[in-house]
This record gives sequence, C-alpha cells and structure tokens, in this order.
Amino acid sequence: MDTLLMERMTWKEIEGAMEGGYDSVLIFAASVEQHGPALPEFTDTAIGYAEAEDLARRLNNTLVAPVIRPGLSRHHMCFPGSLTLRPEVFRGIVEDYIAAYVRHGFRTIILSSSHGGNFGALEEVAREQGENYPQTCIVTGVSLDELDNLLIEMDRREGQPEGTCGGHACDWETSLMMMLDEDYVRRDRLQKGYVGALAGELLERFFRDGVQSISEIGVIGDPTRASAEKGRRYFEIYQARQEKAIREKLEAWHAAHPSAE
Ligand SMILES: [Zn+2]
Repeated sequence: MDTLLMERMTWKEIEGAMEGGYDSVLIFAASVEQHGPALPEFTDTAIGYAEAEDLARRLNNTLVAPVIRPGLSRHHMCFPGSLTLRPEVFRGIVEDYIAAYVRHGFRTIILSSSHGGNFGALEEVAREQGENYPQTCIVTGVSLDELDNLLIEMDRREGQPEGTCGGHACDWETSLMMMLDEDYVRRDRLQKGYVGALAGELLERFFRDGVQSISEIGVIGDPTRASAEKGRRYFEIYQARQEKAIREKLEAWHAAHPSAE
C-alpha cells in the first residue's frame, strides 16, 4: 500500500486492508510545544508521523491512526505557542480512539509517543483499557526509562558528551528534523541548552517549575552539531528498539491470552 496513514485512506481502502489482514492500529501521541529557538512547535508531531509510519511497516498488518497533536506539556507552558491538554482530556482522547478502533474490528492496539510527557499516561490508559476490552491486545512501545537510556547510549556511540542528546530540542531531535526536512531547522539559531544528567531533584524541578527553570531557551541538550546523517543513525537504532519492545509485548500478551487467536 502507498500509505499506512488511515487519515489519507478512504473507508473502502481501510476496509480492504482489514480484510487483507491489517488488524493492528498504531496510535501515536505527540505534542505542540516550544522546541527552543531553532525548531518549530510541531517537532514532535513531525517526528511522530515518521516514527509511526516506519514502525507500522516494520510490524506488518498495522495501520497508523491520526497522530494526537497536543499532549501533556504543562512544563513547556511559559513559552508562547505551547499547548497542553488537561490530563483527563488527553486520556479521554486516547480512550475514544481505542473505542473507535475496537468497534471497527481491530484486534491489536499499540500506543506510543514522540513526546516524553505522554509516556506515563499512555501506560495507564493501556492498562485500564486492556481490562475494559479483554479480547483486544493493547500494548505500549518502549518505556521512558528505556528511551532515556537510549539517549545516553547514542551519545556514547557518537563519542559526544553525555547530555548532548538531552531529550528536548537536543542533538537527537534536531538531527531527526534535519533528516525529515532541512528546512524545518533554523540553523543560525541553534544554541546549546542545559547539558548534563537530568535526574533526581533537577528532574523534579523540570516537571514542577517548568523547562525554563533549567534552560531559559527551552533546550535540554546541545543541538549545535546536529546533522541529517546522525538523524538517520538515531532513527534506525530507535526504530529497531521500538519494534523489538513491541514484538515482545505482543508475544507476552498472546501467551497470556491463548483463546484470543
Ligand atoms: Zn520534542
């Protein structure tokens, strides 16, 4: 198929795909929030679509739901343009997506996010809705901890200081955006933000007081040496890790629900 994005397909094409074995949906949640002086506010949305479509191709028999654009971004709200949903609204949107796809007959629903702030809520929704729809396999992708560890691993692989891929508008996100479209990035505005470990009291402050309490330009990491080539390396490693995590969770679910096949 040309596209796996359901929003680009007609209902007839979606029905045809389902009859041909496409019984899984990937629901990605992103954010609309500040990404420092050099990246646009739809950064997580752009990355979310790229990750979701690639992941759907890797997993086979999987279609992609419209990416949920605004997410949980309370800690970015002191910068203009950022949106944040109330936690119950965000959860409600994800629940309504799941209800729709269950009703249409999809058997597997995979939740993931291109924005760190959504991970916890998605884990909770997956757990609760899994109980709500016991016949539907509902799983999530890699955890936030796994992603954080992966960013440290990326810095090591590239031989750059820890925290270069700090997690927000950093070398990782900027390189991914360059990979997608060089024009997304204001190269002359790239600026180093907070570089170092983000843990313990600092991480608490990050979520409680906002990103600006750690970096006044809203950047966690150092994007000044980002490149499209790095973006391609990062993307390949992360996507493979996501695929592995999801396949393991799908297998575990089916082992625990032998009657669902
Ligand atoms: Zn981001």
